[in-house]
Amino acid sequence: MNADELPTLRDELEAHGLWANKGLGQHFLLDLNITRRIAKTAGDLAGKQVIEVGPGPGGLTRALLESGAHVTAIEKDTRFLPLLEPLIAWSEGRLTIVQGDALQVDQAALVSGASAAIISNLPYNVGTPLLVNWLKAGAWRGDMTLMFQKEVAQRIVAKPGSDAYGRLAVLAQARCECRLEFTVPARAFTPPPKIASAIVTLRDRADPYPHLDALERVTAAAFGQRRKMLRSALRALTPDAEALLNEARLEPTARAEEIDQAGFRALADAWRARQI
Ligand code: SAM
Repeated sequence: MNADELPTLRDELEAHGLWANKGLGQHFLLDLNITRRIAKTAGDLAGKQVIEVGPGPGGLTRALLESGAHVTAIEKDTRFLPLLEPLIAWSEGRLTIVQGDALQVDQAALVSGASAAIISNLPYNVGTPLLVNWLKAGAWRGDMTLMFQKEVAQRIVAKPGSDAYGRLAVLAQARCECRLEFTVPARAFTPPPKIASAIVTLRDRADPYPHLDALERVTAAAFGQRRKMLRSALRALTPDAEALLNEARLEPTARAEEIDQAGFRALADAWRARQI
């Protein structure tokens, strides 16, 4: 099966009189070389279930189907359904299209049996909330290969001590090994966005931290005032912030960006212990 036998994406968009709707974060990848590279980065997809959010005209969808995946694609914009429909027959039934808002759709219900990989060129306006939902998801959610704006990608993989290090890095790395795989220049998209994008892989780590809600609470307070010492910043969480820090064995004078994954786990555990 070779996607080159299909009409080009540009011709399809033109034939259907479609254009990008910026309000829906639509920046299309019409070059199959790039979408094939994304599919390849996700590993061997033959026979695997994949959830794709925002197939749009279907450039990445074509590459995923070509790799042998069973794809469930969730698209909010109904205009693209006629472009995606022919891919169902072409893939011999390995494509299911769900029309709706990926933030509202019950994605767990779309997965049967084993877990599904999540592979998407995400709309920039809902990329972060989708990622946080997936981080919290159960065993139905497999490894993720996701395209974000480059700056968001850098925040996901950031390490302590860097400006990009914050809540997103702590939450993502609590569940996954996160890697920035490659960047894609703005000019590769139609229409080009203002800034470059990057592909990040997030593979489940062997020792995931289970209490993401607690981690969200402590990181919100800690990074809410990232320039302040934790003993001040954490007052947003509790009046006796210094005692909480002692319970977590963290220096009250440290700042949020100096605290590593283990430190934030200890802080979330100490905070949880007080709620019980
Ligand atoms: N996958 C296509 C590609 O790579 O060319 C399109 C990617 S474009 C960046 C984002 C896509 O997500 C658009 O097709 C847009 O309509 C869709 N979208 C935006 N918000 C959505 C939402 N909340 N749920 C599902 N799809 C959404």
